[in-house]
Amino acid sequence: MRASHGSEAHEVDNDGQAAAQARELTKIYGEGETRVIAVDQVSVDFRRAEYTAIMGPSGSGKSTLMHCMAGLDTITAGSARIGGTELNGLSDRRLTQLRRDRVGFIFQSYNLLPMLNALENIRLPMDVAGRRPDPVWLQQVIDTVGLRERLRHRPAQLSGGQQQRVAVARALAGKPEIIFGDEPTGNLDSRASAEILGFLRNSVRELGQTVVMVTHDPVAASYADRVVFLADGRVVGEMTSPTAEGVLGHIRRFEVQHASPRDG
Ligand code: ADP
Repeated sequence: MRASHGSEAHEVDNDGQAAAQARELTKIYGEGETRVIAVDQVSVDFRRAEYTAIMGPSGSGKSTLMHCMAGLDTITAGSARIGGTELNGLSDRRLTQLRRDRVGFIFQSYNLLPMLNALENIRLPMDVAGRRPDPVWLQQVIDTVGLRERLRHRPAQLSGGQQQRVAVARALAGKPEIIFGDEPTGNLDSRASAEILGFLRNSVRELGQTVVMVTHDPVAASYADRVVFLADGRVVGEMTSPTAEGVLGHIRRFEVQHASPRDG
């Protein structure tokens, strides 16, 4: 399913395809003079087993859209769904449960607990939820991210790339319906970054995972199946099977089109 506006919105009443869906999603911060429309009536679907990158200039609403769709922030108007569950109007308790049981997160800053070793960090969300991980799956995830030799190490004993691999394994371990990443490779050098992005892509191709990540890096975006471009809180474009050059060209064209008249 693709990004859409207005009348197309109700045609797609989550048909079982989308892992996450926004319809006319609007998020407004502040009031009066400080009022900011961070996300402006966005309709977008993230299909199952698809890897999507969200791009756009700083302040275009990427993080806000992702946070609203992941249940990390409340919505001002419209709809956001994970699978068949409408997030708008869910109580804090239900939202917490949903994030814990159905969504995986990867942040730029890894967010690992320093006193726990790698394996304990990977298992933490399931331990908190009182769920037992599927042992075969857990081993597969650990092997795929190449952490077998590092499971007893604490975060401080691991490189940035290794810490992020722990965070990716933690997000995957519970087989969430969807994984959201906020610049997941923003703190990594290009080699570690390529490893993590390649791994996320494999998790989509081979394990059927659904991944949505915010990035400003065209190379990172080229690992995705699709790029959704935002500007001023709206979806302004989309690209499938992106290449880094293609993404860069799209960004440049957009900048030229939207440059103020006196620039040109
Ligand atoms: P991006 O991720 O694309 O850089 P954001 O989603 O962080 O953009 O921000 C979109 C707009 O919303 C910006 O104008 C930003 O200043 C504003 N904004 C984001 N978070 C808050 C907040 N908690 N309070 C007030 N304004 C916010």
